[in-house]
Amino acid sequence: MPAYDAKAERATRDVVSRAMFSEIRKGNTTPHGGLYISMGHLGADRVRREFKGMVERCADCGFDLAGGLVEVVPTAHYMMGGVEFAADCTTSIPGLFVAGEDSGGVHGANRLGGNGVANSTVFGAVAGGSMAAWVRKHGRLADPSELETAIARCERPLSAPRGDLEALREKLHETMWERVGIIRDGAGLTRALGELDAIDAELERTGIGTISRAFNLSWHDWLNLKSLVAVSRVITQAALARQDSRGAHYREDFPQSGPLESSAYTSIRADGEVTMKPVAFTRVRPGQTLLKHAA
Ligand SMILES: Cc1cc2nc3c(=O)[nH]c(=O)nc-3n(C[C@H](O)[C@H](O)[C@H](O)COP(=O)(O)OP(=O)(O)OC[C@H]3O[C@@H](n4cnc5c(N)ncnc54)[C@H](O)[C@@H]3O)c2cc1C
Repeated sequence: MPAYDAKAERATRDVVSRAMFSEIRKGNTTPHGGLYISMGHLGADRVRREFKGMVERCADCGFDLAGGLVEVVPTAHYMMGGVEFAADCTTSIPGLFVAGEDSGGVHGANRLGGNGVANSTVFGAVAGGSMAAWVRKHGRLADPSELETAIARCERPLSAPRGDLEALREKLHETMWERVGIIRDGAGLTRALGELDAIDAELERTGIGTISRAFNLSWHDWLNLKSLVAVSRVITQAALARQDSRGAHYREDFPQSGPLESSAYTSIRADGEVTMKPVAFTRVRPGQTLLKHAA
């Protein structure tokens, strides 16, 4: 890690993930294609004392975190984007509320450690209050005709012949990991969009050919995959539109972050229309601080 950042493994998550991914791309991997971490330099007793939970979890998987090497890979840990919402958790769709990791814009480009659960807890409570007030006023959350449309959409896989959903999910995983993952570029993102279209088309031709609707996990898999493809597509389009690198979004062809003063959120509709929405610095501007001693 010191070759990548002066703070070594204490650098921010995006920096550490990129460094790991770069080493993996160079082929400097463990036999399983990962990397090793070692905490032995802190002293095994100290690691056991201060990182008790992690030591136990690693031991469960057959690794000695206190004194040995542990095999790791970078992975998607948090979804920084999500549905645009107002402070009361309402969205532009009447009756649709959003909170927690499904909501976008709370953390900017890089979530600070510990703020994921805080986000979900705080906005989960706000959303609950807003939904209760909405139901009291409107008597229901959704328009019945919209529910009919949603039901028809959900029932589609029941009438198509059974296919290999797992193979499709694997393809999606490969596309998103290889071309829309930790290190991105325009060519890879464009190629990913084509692959996503192909996966979606194949999914539409694939059904679950089922006899029973009760507790049908293949049906869940189909619906999940449909949503995963939809979300993957907006992530890819948004990444293609943003020609800079910020936090977890890193473009090898646009590695600079650009001026912070003109920071903008990437806003994208399901039909692919992208709008860059300027960040309103209402409390602290780039370069300013609220800490008196640092000011
Ligand atoms: C490995 C890991 C470590 C993390 N460590 C931290 C940390 O140290 N500190 C921190 O602040 N954050 C951490 N986070 C992030 C944090 O845990 C999450 O952001 C947070 O838990 C998200 O809460 P949520 O309620 O928004 O979503 P979730 O916890 O994902 O809850 C969504 C729920 O909806 C359910 N669901 C999904 N689809 C349906 C459906 N169709 N019908 C009914 N239910 C459905 C799911 O089963 C799930 O229970 C970590 C995340 C990961 C993955």
